[in-house]
Amino acid sequence: MASFADFHTRSIQDRDAFWAEQAKLVDWKVSPQQICDYSNPPFAKWFVGGQTNLCHNAVDRHLAERADQAALIFVSTETDQEKTYTFRDLHAEVQRMAAILKDLGVVKGDRVLIYMPMIAEAAFAMLACARLGAIHSVVFGGFASHSLATRIEDASPKVIISADAGSRGGKGVPYKPLLDEAIKLSAHKPAHVIMVDRKLAPFTPVAGRDVDYAAERAKHMDTVVPCEWVESTHPSYTLYTSGTTGKPKGVQRDTGGYTVALAASMPHIFEGKPGGTFFCTSDIGWVVGHSYIIYGPLIGGMATILYEGLPIRPDGGIWWSLVEKYKVNVMFSAPTAIRVLKKQDPALLSKYDLSSLQALFLAGEPLDEPTAKWISEGLNGKPIIDNYWQTETGWPILSICNGVEKAPSKFGSPGKAIYGYNVKLVDDQTGEELTGANQKGVLTIEGPLPPGNLQTIWGDDKRFVSTYWNTVPNKMVYSTFDWAVRDEDGYFFILGRTDDVINVAGHRLGTREIEESISSHPNVAEVAVVGVADQLKGQVAMAFAIAKDTSCLTDDAARKTLEAEVMKVVDSQLGAVARPSRVIFVTALPKTRSGKLLRRAIQAVAEGRDPGDLTTMDDPAALQQIVDLIKS
Ligand code: ATP
Ligand code: MG
Repeated sequence: MASFADFHTRSIQDRDAFWAEQAKLVDWKVSPQQICDYSNPPFAKWFVGGQTNLCHNAVDRHLAERADQAALIFVSTETDQEKTYTFRDLHAEVQRMAAILKDLGVVKGDRVLIYMPMIAEAAFAMLACARLGAIHSVVFGGFASHSLATRIEDASPKVIISADAGSRGGKGVPYKPLLDEAIKLSAHKPAHVIMVDRKLAPFTPVAGRDVDYAAERAKHMDTVVPCEWVESTHPSYTLYTSGTTGKPKGVQRDTGGYTVALAASMPHIFEGKPGGTFFCTSDIGWVVGHSYIIYGPLIGGMATILYEGLPIRPDGGIWWSLVEKYKVNVMFSAPTAIRVLKKQDPALLSKYDLSSLQALFLAGEPLDEPTAKWISEGLNGKPIIDNYWQTETGWPILSICNGVEKAPSKFGSPGKAIYGYNVKLVDDQTGEELTGANQKGVLTIEGPLPPGNLQTIWGDDKRFVSTYWNTVPNKMVYSTFDWAVRDEDGYFFILGRTDDVINVAGHRLGTREIEESISSHPNVAEVAVVGVADQLKGQVAMAFAIAKDTSCLTDDAARKTLEAEVMKVVDSQLGAVARPSRVIFVTALPKTRSGKLLRRAIQAVAEGRDPGDLTTMDDPAALQQIVDLIKS
């Protein structure tokens, strides 16, 4: 086995040879002529001259060896459905969906917007677009009309694929009225809407525009729709960032680079083997869902579980029961989901046979140590692998690559820079590279960004350059907008977003460090720390916390006692300078739909300002509670 350090070095210093080798993991109709064209930085073109197809690599190419193997396992605890599609079945369903799209005039390069719940048809829809070379834009089903309308305008889709309703906690959540309203609000109108009718919420189709999926599908039971071979650089999809720090950015992804990046990640990062089972609990509306519910596992010849439902219904053991039943090898989730499970009976973890499970990967937000420890113990010491990435990158930047060389995880660290990523920590004031251990810097990536990363912002090359590449003085590097340190072993620790750094009397503190410290108090379940303007010190930290046991918070005096205790913890761990000016107890924290803390919104209301773009916010009541508390 090669050492990981050698593997990584080769990926940077002998870049083209390294990626030419990885490119062999996928099928090409025409082999690439040039591995990387970086003649026009920061725009990188990967596998130039090559022709391939994402759907072919995810589905068709497996028919020869594994047609009867499970490919897509759809499980809904909302509608009590469970259905396994083999690669042969999936191939047939994708062609049926592709035939419907073709009938509606969809050709290569057309955009198709997918606004669907977590049902098998959503996977068919994505793969059918890829098959035709159409560019999909999946919009998370939880978004309402306004957010959806802006995405319809931005993507200008010829066709929208949707459903009558999603379902949450066993109750139908209608989609169709929101979609109709969004189309009304949008300046762009799609020619057609394909409606999957789950019979969860009655609706009236719009004559001439809406077509019924079941009726159209019935016409195409045996229709053959070949894959459209596209150039490697042909866009496969657009997808929006979570909108945690501001207005969401529309990420544009290529085809060839993405296929290769995902194909390579399966053995090197996830140790996923063809014939195995992958269970990613994200949603197809997010990048993790694109890469590791749909494309990655299928490209790797694995079965993938598409799960509709809550992690705690019928009980907190549901995910583990699926691990047992489908012999899941690789699982991928988010810290926020684990924190939900943490509130359940720990016995639910030991109830099932989890022997098939190799590792649990977690990404999306900082993995706090108590949560990491809890799940690690619950899974009997199986590797818990924190990995760090962004919608923009499409696959992890930092992780442990156990498929290359086994390495231990460190609590609080998402691991080392992954092959292909030339990660540099830089000083945000001078642009100087920080090479020493434990120096705080902005996590940046030197161009060219590796395969699979964003090509540009959809329709806005200028914004791509100005947003990501022109932020560090004297240097053109890609900024992740996250602070980090690297220890002497090369492990990174993410300290928070660059705009989450607060400056208390000249001391620069990451909100993450303060949150970690506060979380270590036994009665703190969750916490958000923001910097609030202060006349004397410039800024002070303010904490909003959820108590695990609220029975002790009966009156103001009791709140004060707990507040003082929490402050003491910060004092002793980080020093008085980091001590929050207030620790305010709340029952919920405002988050994005993808479960990320909306610190900028909290900070704005704490300073009495307008919270800005809130289109991706999940629960408005959580922010309102803070507004009310600040007022009082
Ligand atoms: P926007 O860019 O619109 O503000 P966003 O950055 O939250 O939204 P995503 O692409 O969904 O959109 O999230 C990527 C960010 O999530 C990273 O930049 C980082 O801040 C955070 N993140 C992801 N994984 C981890 C991790 N393992 N540890 C710490 N932070 C993480
Ligand atoms: Mg971001």
